[in-house]
Amino acid sequence: MTEGPAEPPAPPPEQPPATDDPQLAASQQPGEIGEPQLATPPAPTDLLRIGDKMVPPGSAVRIDLPVARLFTGGWLSLPVTALQGARPGPRLWLDAAIHGDELNGMEIIRRVLAVLDPARLAGAVIAVPVVNVFGFVQQTRYLPDRRDLNRSFPGSARGSMAARLARLFIEQIVAKCGYGIDLHTGSQHRTNLPQIRAHLADPETRRIAEAFAAPMMYTAAEIPGSLRAAARRRGVHLLVYEAGEPLRFDEAGIRAGVDGVLRVLAALGMWEAPEGPPPPRSFEAEEAAWVRARRSGIFHHSAKLGEPVKRHQQLGYITPPWGNETTPVKAPFEGIVIGFTSNPLVYRGDALLHVARAARAPSRPARV
Ligand SMILES: [Zn+2]
Repeated sequence: MTEGPAEPPAPPPEQPPATDDPQLAASQQPGEIGEPQLATPPAPTDLLRIGDKMVPPGSAVRIDLPVARLFTGGWLSLPVTALQGARPGPRLWLDAAIHGDELNGMEIIRRVLAVLDPARLAGAVIAVPVVNVFGFVQQTRYLPDRRDLNRSFPGSARGSMAARLARLFIEQIVAKCGYGIDLHTGSQHRTNLPQIRAHLADPETRRIAEAFAAPMMYTAAEIPGSLRAAARRRGVHLLVYEAGEPLRFDEAGIRAGVDGVLRVLAALGMWEAPEGPPPPRSFEAEEAAWVRARRSGIFHHSAKLGEPVKRHQQLGYITPPWGNETTPVKAPFEGIVIGFTSNPLVYRGDALLHVARAARAPSRPARV
């Protein structure tokens, strides 16, 4: 992309907290900065600041971080809701829509924020429901320059649009937290079984992944430039949660995500433990592989998300648009189905089904 002027214009003057949410507005107490009215206020070093806004203990604050000036002269901003608990504790961020067309995470964050109350929270939750604001507006995965934000971390203050947004997110959100949950869906007509991808060799990351208790978890290969890779280099414990497909709400995946986030907050001592029996353990996968199309045509699949499959079990078939000639599609190994394409039109080589091999043999279907 061709760069514009070397220096971006100065951000606009800060506006009053942009919230029309009466619950949030009522809990904002900007006058209390530096003089919290709590019996045991956090040490001054615990004070949370995002952009030029302080987040006083026991409050929720809406912040719009300026990202870029639009062609129209107005500003595009990154919406952030920060909750600083009444008691000290860890800091965790929640983010969604790093790929602008992945919407389930935005809804997960909305429902989690509706539950959380800063007066009963320990530590801080920083929620960014739409990170790729450019892609979100245009309902696309990418930024306007076709860059993938999740290949642009840790970013740079003088780089491309994607690099600058990545840098802003690292400086204003990641740098202030010890934990993060990054919410995604499948891409390009592909839908995913609700699953956690994380660096499970790290004991603390494994502990919170097990607390999340998604239907499946595994250590996926780390992609250079991803938020996950950048966070790990900073020593942050990050979970990537994948559920459903782009531009669609998946109610089961959303509920599993809300429950998982609240269980992680409980495991970190930030929020009360949910009532009821503990959830079933995650199915832990050792590896996952895509089954690809051996020919172009129309793909018919018979497998369900979370279904246990045997090696060489038929999971579907490909036909031409007419006639009875069929090419079977088979499982590469024993495991469970964790994703598939919902678009029947496939070229040879296209990814059809994602199958995970169990770290231990699956005995029953994964919960969806
Ligand atoms: Zn994504």
